[in-house]
This record gives sequence, C-alpha cells and structure tokens, in this order.
Amino acid sequence: MDEIIKKLQEDFKGDIDISDSTLSTYSHDASLFEVRPRVVVYPKDAEDIKTLVRWVNVHKEQDPTLSITARSAGTDMSGGAIGSSVIMDFTRYMNVIKEVTPDHAIVMPGCYYRDFDTATKKIGRYMPAFTASREINAVGGMIGNNSGGEKAIKYGKTEEYINALKVVLSDGNEYLIKPLTKSELESKISIAPGTDNAFEINLYLQLYKIITENYDEIMNAKPAVSKNSAGYYLWNVYDKATGTFDLCRLIVGSQGTLGIVTEINFRLVPTEPFSNILVVFMPSLDDVSKLVTEIIPFKPDSLETFDDKSMILAVRFFFDFFKQLGFWGAIKLGLQFIPEAWMTAVGGIPKLILMIEFTGQSEEEIKNKLTEVKDHIAHFGFHMHIAHSSGEADKYWRIRHESFNLLRKHVKNKRTAPFIDDIIVKPEYLPEFLPKVKALLDAYKLDYTVQGHLGNGNFHIIPLMDLNSPFSADIILELSAKVYSLVHEYHGSITAEHNDGIIRTPYLLQQFGPKIIELFQKTKNIFDPKNIFNPGKKVGGTFEDIRTAIKKKN
Ligand SMILES: Cc1cc2nc3c(=O)[nH]c(=O)nc-3n(C[C@H](O)[C@H](O)[C@H](O)COP(=O)(O)OP(=O)(O)OC[C@H]3O[C@@H](n4cnc5c(N)ncnc54)[C@H](O)[C@@H]3O)c2cc1C
Repeated sequence: MDEIIKKLQEDFKGDIDISDSTLSTYSHDASLFEVRPRVVVYPKDAEDIKTLVRWVNVHKEQDPTLSITARSAGTDMSGGAIGSSVIMDFTRYMNVIKEVTPDHAIVMPGCYYRDFDTATKKIGRYMPAFTASREINAVGGMIGNNSGGEKAIKYGKTEEYINALKVVLSDGNEYLIKPLTKSELESKISIAPGTDNAFEINLYLQLYKIITENYDEIMNAKPAVSKNSAGYYLWNVYDKATGTFDLCRLIVGSQGTLGIVTEINFRLVPTEPFSNILVVFMPSLDDVSKLVTEIIPFKPDSLETFDDKSMILAVRFFFDFFKQLGFWGAIKLGLQFIPEAWMTAVGGIPKLILMIEFTGQSEEEIKNKLTEVKDHIAHFGFHMHIAHSSGEADKYWRIRHESFNLLRKHVKNKRTAPFIDDIIVKPEYLPEFLPKVKALLDAYKLDYTVQGHLGNGNFHIIPLMDLNSPFSADIILELSAKVYSLVHEYHGSITAEHNDGIIRTPYLLQQFGPKIIELFQKTKNIFDPKNIFNPGKKVGGTFEDIRTAIKKKN
C-alpha cells in the first residue's frame, strides 16, 4: 500500500481494499470499458465520505491523479462507475432504508432498488422511475444517471421523485440540498462571505449568475424530447415564473461529478393493484410511428418494444431464468414460451413486438381500456392480443428486461458494445428516423438487438462486436458521430437515461455546441474546482479516452 493511501487508513472507518481480485472486479461496469482503479473503499457513513474528500484535497497537489468515482451497484452502461483512482462503493454499508411513509422515503445510496421497492410496497407505495435493471441496480446510481424505465411516459424519470438530497461537496462538508423559494435563495446568498459556509454561498451565487445571465441560451439548449440524461440540466434548476431554485435538479444525472450523494429523500406514489398488457406483433417497422401516435392519447402506463432478435435470445437462453425463478417458476414461465419457441422454430417471428400496459384499481377497468385501444388500432391489421394471465404478461416483460443481460453473458468471441444504446427523438419522427439509423448500422454489417421505450421514442440499440479487432474503436467513434448527427437533425438527445460517462462525454459538444459546453465546464468548476469527482465524465472526456478504455479481451 502506498504512503498516500496509508494516510487515509488513519481516519477512515470503512474498508480499504487494494487486492488484485477487487481491483479487477471494479475495473468494469456494464459498459464496454475497462479501467483499473488504484484502490476501492467502502465507507461506513457520511463522515467517512467527508474524510475521503478532505484526504484527496490535502494530497491532490502532491498527486494530481487522485480522484473519487462514486459507485452504487456498478450497472452503468456508459463507463460512469469506473475510474483510475479511488472507487467508493456504497452497497456494503451505506444501504439503509431510514424511513418509509406514505408520501416519502429516506434511503442511503447503496440500497438496491429491489429492497427499497419491497419496503415501500409494504405500505402500498413505490418510486415509479425504476429501470429494466431494477433487480441489480441501487438507488444511488438512479440519482447518478437520472434513470428511468418503462413507466416514464406516465411518471417521468428519477428527477421527478426527489424531495431532497444530502450531498458531500468538494470542500469536504455535507449539505442538505432541496428546492428553495425565491426568499430562501435570497437569504442564502446574501450572507456575508467569509463565514463558515462561504463555499456554499459562493456556489449558489455563481450558479444563479450563470443561469440568469445565460437564461435564453440555456433554455434553448434543452433537448426537445420527453427524457434526457445528457449534460448538466442547467435548464431545470431555476423556474423564473415561481422563483424556485432547485439544485437537486442539477445533481441528479450528474454521474457523481458534482458531489457525492449520501442520502436521498424520495417522493413516493400509490401502487395500482392491477395491470395487464396488450401485445402487438408488427411484421415490419413501417407503421411504428403512426401506431404510437394513435396509442399515446389513451395514456398507457407503458409502451415498450423489443425486436425479433431479443425474442430469439430469450428462447435460446431460456435456462437462465431458472436461476432467477427457481425450478417451478421457470417451468411455469417455460409453458408460456411454447408459442415463441414454435415461432422461432418455423421462422415466423414478427419484426417488432409492442407491449401496451395499463394499470388500475380493478381487472375490469384495465380490460376495458385495453379493449378500447385494441379496437382503435385494429385497422392496422396486425396480430394482437390481450395477455390472458399475469404469467403471460410476465413472459413479455422478462424478454424486454433480460435480453441485454442474456446477450452480455452468452455471446462468444464478441461482446455487447453499448455506444449508441440510448438515443431518443420525438415519436413523431420515428418513421423517417428509424430507417436512416438502420441504414447506418447496416453499412457496417453489425449484428444488433433493439429494445426500447417506444412511447418516448427512446431506443436501446446494442451491437455485438469483436473488441480485439483493431477496427472496432474506429467503428465505434465513426458510427456514434453519424448516429448522433442524425439525432441532432431530429432535435433529439444522445442519451435518454443511460447518461454520458466515458462513451458519450466527447459527443456533448455535438449535442449542445461550444457555448453550452463552456457553461457545463463553469458549472463543474464551481462545484469541483480541483476536479476531484469522477474526472472525464460530463466534462473533459476525450475520444482518446474512449479508445484507451475499450476492453480488449473477451
Ligand atoms: C441489463 C441492464 C438494463 C438497464 N436498463 C436500464 C433502464 O431501463 N433505464 C436506465 O435508466 N438505466 C438502465 N440501465 C443502466 C443502469 O442500470 C442504471 O442507470 C442504474 O440506475 C444504475 O444504478 P447503479 O446502482 O448500478 O449505479 P452505478 O453504476 O453504480 O452508478 C451510476 C452512476 O451514478 C454515479 N453514482 C453512483 N452512486 C452515487 C452517489 N452516491 N453519489 C453520486 N453519484 C453516484 C456513478 O458515479 C455513476 O456515474 C441498465 C443496465 C443494465 C446492465
């Protein structure tokens, strides 16, 4: 252990690990990258995090490479949860649910969403911005990425469910961050400088200045889509009409680059006891947009999709579900898969499968809504049916949730390469946009799966690639630029929910232009002038970083 890390041991109560196996494990998240950290630490509490930040502050001049990358469950697909210096994992100790009431819950970042969900559902409440990775991700990462999932068309993303955050900032102190009224903001920034909280006063003052002085440019930079995770969300902080100034709206989605979240106060909503889906089998992508336009006015809870390749994967690697469901659970699910196995065998698989979900207070209510939609879209002539049991609905949800994981685990000689994995445009542009994206991908002869949150126009396209090939990095960089240029043309965003990380930070310039990038850099400097928190993500990342970090061995 080197001298600087030995110094940390003096005050840090949690665990410090530099073993080879730990460093190897933490060299990865769910991205296509590999970056080996110097040390992995497991804080016991917020005091430990303060100790760590102060320790970096003290030693940063002597060793400028020192930095901290926050990590909850490490399922990030952008490379946001890996870094070359200190990785700080919250799941070992900082995973406590402190309070659950009908309207809010207070929880530490390392709590797995599945445990949080179980606790809130005991009183008939939940936080609806859950992800397709909800069985494996933690709530800290949902804040870090501003995550969202299948309920986003009805409920929005994580940003909509934050009452308050506790955050350790780069001065090594913990702050309570919550929406401030106009007068609260005024009193906060009018305290004379030189007092104990000079750092906080300066932070609010400088941010208020940046936002108000560049208000129109900032508002115009907001991507014209229903979900966005790219950049710093300066456009969401200050509401001119009400005077509300909410820094939670900036910290959410900032991938641990502005501070370390130590506690989250989530707003909860009531659960709906019943749900069911209408499944639509589309032979081609041609009518996707028209179909979505006709479905959206019915206000479904979810409007999700997956392609033929995702379905084949689920059938081929069905045995994986045994681990998740146990023997009898998997057998029950297996019986549901007989029609799909048959379709796979005879090659009669539809190109795209749509799932339209409604929830409600009774089965009758949902059946009526589903039937109404079914009748309304019958003129398209697609095969469709209402799931006749929760088991059948579960089958479709499993394919939708698990296909990326199945692909990650089973493909030989190639790897899943998430780099254009999260594009979004308004659904009305899909008929023009999707064929153009397909043409770009086909020009590179890539094999890929597609799933998506169709209701938002958000697609997860995951190519398979041999990352040992000397051409892979070139393809990744070139194809990303082409796809993102198309996204730009259709006023979309390069990431709806997976965030920027290593893979997209250099493309933020293409998304937002130089003026907004300058404001992002200023924002970072205000929060983190020494670049302690997760460097190279959100600002400062380069194309060379992408090339260097691509994991070469399969
Ligand atoms: C199979 C699969 C499916 C997925 N589906 C979805 C989906 O439907 N929707 C979606 O949004 N995402 C999805 N993801 C991506 C990812 O799972 C989510 O973004 C998830 O919320 C990340 O949670 P985590 O706990 O794993 O975070 P991590 O990977 O640990 O971290 C994510 C980011 O947050 C930062 N962070 C973590 N903890 C803190 C903290 N305490 N303070 C400050 N910053 C912090 C990290 O530095 C990192 O930048 C999927 C991933 C996989 C592998």
